[in-house]
Amino acid sequence: MKEPEKALTPRLVKKMWLTFIFIIVLMGASYIFITGYFANMYNQATAQRVNADIANHLIEEKFQNTSPFLEDGSVNKALFGDLMHDMMAVNRSIEVYLLNNAGQILYSVVLDHSDNAPAKRVSLAPIKQFIENKGEAYVLGDDPRNPGEQKIFSVASFEADGQAGYVYIILAGKEFQLISENLLAQYFIKLGIGATLLTMLFAAFIGFISIWFLTKNLRLITRTIRRFQEGDLDARIENPEKSNIEVFAHSFNDMADTIVGNLDKMKSVDLLRRELIANVSHDLRTPLAILKGYIETLQIKKDTLSESEKEEYLQITHDNVDKLSKLIHQLFEYSKLEAEQITPIKEPFSITELSYDLIAKFQVIADKKEIGLHLNNPEENSMVFADVSLVERALQNLIENAIKYTEPQGKVTLSIKRKENNVEINITDTGTGIPVSEQPFIFDRYKQVDKNQKKMGSGLGLAIVKKIMDLHDTTITVLSRPKEGSSFIFNLPAYQS
Ligand code: ADP
Repeated sequence: MKEPEKALTPRLVKKMWLTFIFIIVLMGASYIFITGYFANMYNQATAQRVNADIANHLIEEKFQNTSPFLEDGSVNKALFGDLMHDMMAVNRSIEVYLLNNAGQILYSVVLDHSDNAPAKRVSLAPIKQFIENKGEAYVLGDDPRNPGEQKIFSVASFEADGQAGYVYIILAGKEFQLISENLLAQYFIKLGIGATLLTMLFAAFIGFISIWFLTKNLRLITRTIRRFQEGDLDARIENPEKSNIEVFAHSFNDMADTIVGNLDKMKSVDLLRRELIANVSHDLRTPLAILKGYIETLQIKKDTLSESEKEEYLQITHDNVDKLSKLIHQLFEYSKLEAEQITPIKEPFSITELSYDLIAKFQVIADKKEIGLHLNNPEENSMVFADVSLVERALQNLIENAIKYTEPQGKVTLSIKRKENNVEINITDTGTGIPVSEQPFIFDRYKQVDKNQKKMGSGLGLAIVKKIMDLHDTTITVLSRPKEGSSFIFNLPAYQS
C-alpha cells in the first residue's frame, strides 16, 4: 500500500518550514526597522534643508532696524511675541529661542508654556557646525524642551547693541513630532504588512523549491528502503552516483546486498542442515531397526537357535551399536566444527611419530582385511606446527577410508615428504577409486559416492577432514582413478627448530 508522500519526511520538512518562517519574520522586522529609521532621517533632513534659512530670514526681515534687546539690555519680549505669532501662523511646529553666544537661553517663545521647564542652555557644537556648512548638512541640536533629545533646527547669529548671540529655531517641535509619528505609524503598518507579505511570498516560493530539491533524494531513498522493508529484496536506489546524497545511496545499496547475501547464505546453510538431519535420521534408523530385529529374534527364538547363530546375531548387534556410536560421535564433532566452537591449539609436534602411532593402531584392522599398511618416511623426523589432536583426527579418517575402500591384498601407504616450508602428507590406496565427476563433492557434508555401497559410512568423515584443513588454512587435494586407487594430499607448515 502506498503511503502519502507527505508522511515520508514530515519532521524534516516541518523543521525546514519553521526555520523559513522564523527567517521571514526576522527579515520583515529588520526591513521595517531599517526603512523606518531611514524614512525618519530622510523626513527630518528634508525638513531641515527646506527650513535651513528660516533663522537667517528672521533676522534679516524682522530685526532689520530693531534689536532683539531693549535699551536696558533686556530681551524685547513684545517683538518676540509678535514674531512668533507671525511665524506660527505659517508653521505651528517650530519653537524659537534667543541664545547668547555661550548657548544660554535668554528668551523663548514656545507654543505651550505649561510644559516642563526648558533647559537653560544648549550645546554650541551643532550650532557652529550648522553655520559652517551654511545649513547644507544634516545636524541635530539639543531640544531645550526635552533635555537629552536631539532635533533638527535652524540657527543664525546676530550682533546688536554690543551683544552677540543666536536665534535658534527647533524645526520639529512637539507638534511636528506628533504628526510625524502618527503618519509614520500609519505608513509603517502599510509598509510593514506589504513588505512582509511580499518577502513571505518570495521566501515561501524559494523555500518550497529548495525543500523540494533537498528532500527529493531523501524521498526516493525512503521509498526504496520502505520497499525493501516490505519484502522487495531487489529494491535498490537507481544510479546512486547521480543522487545528491551519493554516499548514503551507495551505503544503502551495499547494505541491501550484504543482507541479501547473508539471507542466501543462511538459506543454503538451513537447506544443508535439513538435508543432514534427514540423512542422519535415516542412518540412525537403519542400524536401530537392525538391532531391534536381531534382539527380538534372539528373545523369541532363543531356545531354537544354535550357539553359532546366537553368536552371529550378537556380533551383528555389536557391529550396529558400534556404527551408531561412531555416527553420533562424528555428528557431534562435525557440528562443533561447523559452529566454529573449536579453536585449533597449534604447537610443534612430530608428524613422523604421530604417523607411526596411527599405523600401529590401524595395523590390526589392515591385517584382518589382508591389506598392507605402510609408512613411507624418508626423513628422520619431520616436525610440523599444528593442532595435534585435530591432525590426528583427520589422518584417522583418511586411513580409515583408505582401508575401507580397498579390497584385500591391496595397499595403503602414508608418505611424509619434507618440502620447503611445508611437510606434505599423502595417503594413497590401491582401492576402488572415486569417479572424476564425484571428486569435487566428496568433501561436502553427507556426500557418498554410491549410496548402495556396503561399506557405507556416515558421509561425515571427509567433511570433518575439510573443516580441520580450513582451521589450519590449508587445503586437501584428491587424486583418484576408479579401480586404480586414490591419493589424499595435504600440507602442514613445517616447524624449524
Ligand atoms: P563415509 O563415511 O561414507 O566414508 P566420507 O566423508 O569419509 O564418508 O567419504 C565420503 C565418500 O567419499 C565416501 O562415501 C566414498 O564414496 C568416497 N571416498 C572417501 N575416501 C575414499 C577412498 N579412499 N577411496 C574411495 N572412495 C573414497
